[in-house]
Amino acid sequence: MDAISIVVSVYNEAEVVEQFHTELMRQTSLMDSPVDVIYVDDGSTDGSERLLDALAHEDPRVAVVHLSRNYGHEAAMIAGIDHAGGQAVICMDADLQNPPACIPDMVTAFRSGHDVVSMVRRSRADGTWLYRWASRSFYRIINRLSDTSLTPNASDFFLVSRRVADILRHDYRERSRFLRGIIQLVGFPRVAIEYDAPPRAAGRSKYSLFKLLAFSVTAIASFSKGPLKLAIYAGVFFALLSLLLIAYSLYMWLFHLPVSGYTTLVVFLSAFASILFFILGIMGYYIGFIFDEVKQRPIYSVRQVVHSPNPDCQS
Ligand code: UDP
Ligand code: MG
Repeated sequence: MDAISIVVSVYNEAEVVEQFHTELMRQTSLMDSPVDVIYVDDGSTDGSERLLDALAHEDPRVAVVHLSRNYGHEAAMIAGIDHAGGQAVICMDADLQNPPACIPDMVTAFRSGHDVVSMVRRSRADGTWLYRWASRSFYRIINRLSDTSLTPNASDFFLVSRRVADILRHDYRERSRFLRGIIQLVGFPRVAIEYDAPPRAAGRSKYSLFKLLAFSVTAIASFSKGPLKLAIYAGVFFALLSLLLIAYSLYMWLFHLPVSGYTTLVVFLSAFASILFFILGIMGYYIGFIFDEVKQRPIYSVRQVVHSPNPDCQS
C-alpha cells in the first residue's frame, strides 16, 4: 500500500500539539496505508520543540524538522514537503482545525487517481462575517486576475501526490508564494472535498487580520501581473481627461474668456499625483519580489532533524 507522509507545521502550539498527535494517530491507525508524520517546528519558543522531539523518540513513524527560526507557515509546509518521502503528502495545521478524521477520505480520493486533493472549508466556526466577506472578496479578486480558476475557500489542508510534490520541490521555489494556489496551478487531476473547520482546540491564531491582509496582497501579486495593468488603465483615463482639459483651456484662451481654473487644477493635480504614487507603490512591490528572487536566499534553513530509527521516516 502507498505510504502517506503527513506534514504538520507547528509554531508555538505547546497547548495543543500532544492532543493533535493523539487524534492524528487514532484516525490514521484505522487506515491500511503506512503513515509517517513530519512535524516542522517553525522556530517555536514555547516548548513545542521539546514536546515534538519527545514524540519522535517515542514513535518511529515521527520525525521533526527544526527550522533555524520562524519562517512562516508556507515556508514550514515547503520544508515538510521537501523532507517527506511518501507516495502522497498531506499538509495540515497542528491546532485541530484541519480534522485528522478527513484523512481517510483524502487518501481515498488520491487512490482514485487525483494528484491534488484540496480541502475546502464549508464553514469556519471561529470566522466572523467580516472574515468571511474578506475571504470571499479575496478569491473573487484572485480569480478575476489570474488565468487559473482557484477553488474558493481552499485551505492549507491538502494532499498532493509524489509527482506533484516533486514538482513543488524542484520547480516552484519562489520566495513569495501562495502554496494552496500553486497546487491548483500545476494542472494534474484535482478534486475538492468540503469539511467543517472546528474552532482551535487551544492556543491562539498566529494570524492577525493585518497579517492576513498582507498575506492576501502577497498572494495576489505573486499570482498575477494584473495590478500592473492598473498603470495603463489610469494612464488612458488621465490622457482622456487631459484632452478635455486642453480643449477647454484652448477654447477659453482663443476667445479671450476669463479662466478660473483653480479648482480644476487642484482636483486634477491631487487625483493625478495620488494615483501616480499608488501605481509607483505597486511597481515597487513587484520590484521587491524581483529583489527577493535575485538574491536566491533559501526559503528556510534547517537547524536539526530529529529522526526516529525507522528509515522510512528519513529523507
Ligand atoms: N504556523 C507556522 N508558522 C507561523 C504561523 C503559523 O508554522 O509562522 C502554523 C501554526 O502552528 C498552525 C498553522 O500554521 O499549525 C496555522 O496557523 P494558525 O492556526 O495560527 O492560522 P489560522 O488557522 O488562524 O489561519
Ligand atoms: Mg488555525
